[in-house]
Amino acid sequence: MMEMIKNKYVKAASIQEAIDFIHQKGVSLFVAGGTDVYVNKQQGTVSADTYIDISGIEELKEIKQEGNILSIGTMVSLENLIKNELIQACFSALQEAASAVATPVIRKTATLGGNILCENRCSFYNQSDWWREAVGYCLKCSGDICIATGGKKNCFSKFVSDTAPVLLACKASVVVIDNQGEREMPLEQLYSGDGINHLTISESTLLKTIKIPIDKSLKVVFKKLRPRKTLDFTSLTTAVSVNQAGNIRIVVGGVDPKPILIEGDRSSLSELVTMAVKKPRVVENDYYSRKYRKEMIGVYVEDSLKELGLEKS
Ligand SMILES: Cc1cc2nc3c(=O)[nH]c(=O)nc-3n(C[C@H](O)[C@H](O)[C@H](O)COP(=O)(O)OP(=O)(O)OC[C@H]3O[C@@H](n4cnc5c(N)ncnc54)[C@H](O)[C@@H]3O)c2cc1C
Repeated sequence: MMEMIKNKYVKAASIQEAIDFIHQKGVSLFVAGGTDVYVNKQQGTVSADTYIDISGIEELKEIKQEGNILSIGTMVSLENLIKNELIQACFSALQEAASAVATPVIRKTATLGGNILCENRCSFYNQSDWWREAVGYCLKCSGDICIATGGKKNCFSKFVSDTAPVLLACKASVVVIDNQGEREMPLEQLYSGDGINHLTISESTLLKTIKIPIDKSLKVVFKKLRPRKTLDFTSLTTAVSVNQAGNIRIVVGGVDPKPILIEGDRSSLSELVTMAVKKPRVVENDYYSRKYRKEMIGVYVEDSLKELGLEKS
């Protein structure tokens, strides 16, 4: 707590003010609901000179339909997202995924933007400082070895957002803004695949909106594996979608440092399932074993395909 008091805290009233604050001297971080960033700060895995609270920016709290695009502001809380009728009508799987995040109290402040940007996790990293010091730290926190694999090159901290896989299955894109201006990119381009720095955008980039093309024919199935059906972070999250044309998107989260996206059609269901199991780099860094999680990818993806009426021949 003493640490937090020492740091500077500022509240931005507009997007421009948030961008101006982040370019001031020193290391700064945006804070949306703070349910990820402040917990990590207390564990000593995140630190900044200034925390820029963006929760007062009304512009980031809108949910609206623009033509055939649903636009969701990144400061929309998971609770409000779950209650929203427009999202209920077009993307109920997104509400299912948001409902699988943490607990009702956390979902009141946790935001959609913070969720898709939340930090990767690993059972050897999300520990107290004295615990991490005792094992000699790891690649993600100034050590020189990955405790999970013994390797010296790659960090395999896992991507844990529960909403991102559904958004990817729905072909979502994100609008980001920094002092160079605004740009839109497919959501998958936000993730680097590197467990140490899992995002491709810098900390001075603000995520503004998430855009999802409205396709009434799109069906999505969401699944999440975790020890207890409340509170626990994911050990495996899958989202599988199919549209009227038979285009299939399979997204596997909770295992690799980034969400793995596999695309195909009805003609190659067996190959798609095989790729979904093979492609993610799963290591022993979770409550469940690597072998079990690998097996469960196959089970979840096959079950999801069946629920979507897609049977392997
Ligand atoms: C007990 C507990 C259980 C949890 N369980 C789950 C779970 O089951 N599934 C899950 O997915 N998550 C879980 N979380 C993590 C977290 O609560 C959620 O991911 C939440 O949605 C994060 O949103 P937030 O608004 O609080 O993000 P914050 O903590 O405010 O921010 C998270 C990160 O995103 C950045 N950020 C936030 N908004 C923006 C923006 N608009 N532009 C640029 N950068 C931004 C911040 O700088 C920070 O790096 C859990 C957390 C706790 C404490």
